[in-house]
Amino acid sequence: MKVTVLTGGVGGAKLVLGLMHSAKVSSLTAVVNTGDDFRHLGLAISPDIDTLLYTLSGKADPAQGWGRESKTWSFMAALKSLGGPGWFNLGDGDLGLHVWRSARLAEGATLSQVTAQAARLWGIAPVILPMSDDPVATWLDTEAGPLAFQHYFVEQQCRPAVRAVRFEGAAKARPAPGVIEAILAADAVLIAPSNPWLSVDPLLAVPGIAAALRETRAPVVAVSPLVGGKAVKGPTSKMMAELGLEPDNAAIAAHYGPVIDAMLHDGSDAAPPGLPARAASTLMTTLADKVRVADEALTLAGTVA
Ligand code: GDP
Repeated sequence: MKVTVLTGGVGGAKLVLGLMHSAKVSSLTAVVNTGDDFRHLGLAISPDIDTLLYTLSGKADPAQGWGRESKTWSFMAALKSLGGPGWFNLGDGDLGLHVWRSARLAEGATLSQVTAQAARLWGIAPVILPMSDDPVATWLDTEAGPLAFQHYFVEQQCRPAVRAVRFEGAAKARPAPGVIEAILAADAVLIAPSNPWLSVDPLLAVPGIAAALRETRAPVVAVSPLVGGKAVKGPTSKMMAELGLEPDNAAIAAHYGPVIDAMLHDGSDAAPPGLPARAASTLMTTLADKVRVADEALTLAGTVA
């Protein structure tokens, strides 16, 4: 089965890893959120693409839950000794990727080209596509004023209540080469259990992507990020409450609207009304869990195809 998955970072990468190891999948393309991308200390940082590259090449740090494993922190120690910003941690191994990417982009390569090159060098078989090679920046309007994504997520630890989310540059961004084709040519399209408002909405805001999801003959299945009415990690359920929504699958299905055809949700939560759905245990801890959840989502896709 030819599968395309739309994903953010850590939560989404678990499903993508499961798909990579699923016997049902013959080819896999991951279209990745770049709304979290930012420049820091002159470096081009793409947190969700990095998470995919690390996770699929076995370099992710399982204990920390983000970034690259076996970290040493000489760079951060030197930076802090000079009074440099300490709020965004960059391990020495992470820094290698960021410096290399920044140099390649400065030479004129696109983010797609740089990402494909990293994936090839690290032996990753699935295709990893940024949603766009054009800059898109997620901003949050909060009770503490407007915050750029990383300032909200990392510096402020998601504390300020969110009133609205917007994606600067999205209206003018073009889907990266291959994105629309991957959605139209797939046998099944999955939306990973990434944060719908922060990780999936930027993808849907790039003109052409939501239309391709509605147009494709492939069933589009969302995997819910809720387990027992709460996000497994991160601010999804907190944000839903701040936006005046119930933290349930009905609200997530209503948010996605006509772009999805079905939802895989955790057995501890109610199914969304009026939408084909399948219940399963969706907590992905081990690799076997990830493959099982991937297979459950593809089984659901098969029933709505
Ligand atoms: P980020 O970009 O690194 O913040 O991560 P994502 O947006 O891709 O993922 C965050 C979402 O993944 C949260 O809403 C979590 O509830 C969800 N998530 C994380 N782990 C799991 C899991 O094991 N199962 C399910 N169903 N959702 C998960």
